[in-house]
Amino acid sequence: MASSHISKAPICPKCGYDQSGEIATWEDQCPLEGRCPECGLEFSWANVLVPNLIDLPWFVEHAKTKREMLRRTIPTLWMLMIPNRYWHRVTMETGRSLRRYTLWIVLMMLVLHIVSSLALLAAIHGHTLSSNAYYTQWLNAGKTEERRAMIRDWIIDTSLLDYWWPIIGEAVLHPAVARSINTGEISEVAGMFAMACASISATWFLLFCMFPVTRARMKLRMVHVARAMVVVGLLPFLIFELARFAAAAIYVGEYWAPLANVEMVINLVILLLIVWMFVWVQWFWISAVWIGWKVKARWFEMILVTTASFLGIVSTGIIHSILLHIGEAINAIATWAGI
Ligand SMILES: [Zn+2]
Repeated sequence: MASSHISKAPICPKCGYDQSGEIATWEDQCPLEGRCPECGLEFSWANVLVPNLIDLPWFVEHAKTKREMLRRTIPTLWMLMIPNRYWHRVTMETGRSLRRYTLWIVLMMLVLHIVSSLALLAAIHGHTLSSNAYYTQWLNAGKTEERRAMIRDWIIDTSLLDYWWPIIGEAVLHPAVARSINTGEISEVAGMFAMACASISATWFLLFCMFPVTRARMKLRMVHVARAMVVVGLLPFLIFELARFAAAAIYVGEYWAPLANVEMVINLVILLLIVWMFVWVQWFWISAVWIGWKVKARWFEMILVTTASFLGIVSTGIIHSILLHIGEAINAIATWAGI
């Protein structure tokens, strides 16, 4: 018996149908290609009998070490950005690791957070240095001693921990804490839109759950849908970290090039990214259904689900108010910690 070597019953990658019966009909020859009698998916038997056989050299979920993960970051992002291409390669037979994917997103956010904190810190410190230089000039021109003492008070001593601690705290906790940087809206807006994208994606998943008849007709394992939700749900949060860089750049622009309209240009870039993210979420799901999972959905059904998925934005309002409270709590703790 061919299946005696395999611990887990071989199943169809798409619908999960047990293929043991099919294998039992093999007599003296093993075919290379097969077709699921349940859903009609065509596959090669090697991929069904040996899970994780497919090894994509660019895919972070197939990375074995953190170093490999780093090397595969740009290629994976590139593939993700164009969902058609992604779903042509990441087929249902491909082994997946959502643990690695989640780790990858968390590490990227962490790195971006550290670097954007440094950028915000540099922006605040740069502002202090330029205002100190301005007051020093003024001080030298001061006529009376009384006036000079007053100006001396305005010059900030940057050698003290009392100076660095609050601004480091602010840079790390921006936009929840906004003491000197007044350009936090962009990060807040980007964070809110990332959440809207995640909610839209969760709504796609819910819509799949809500219609068991449709699901039965599609003959699709729910694990595929759940994975797609995680992949789409986490990626937009990178925009929030990018918006922290934008906040630093706008702040710097305000005091070094106040006439250059830096804010308008950067806001436009972030806005385009947000719009792109909304298009991307829908594109990713539609190509998952059509290309990745080979579901023969009709175009008007797709339009219906796409439209319905925007209902997810309703829950964004709720999440946003929860986050506002978290932001206030962080702010209160920061005040307590002397930031
Ligand atoms: Zn099947």
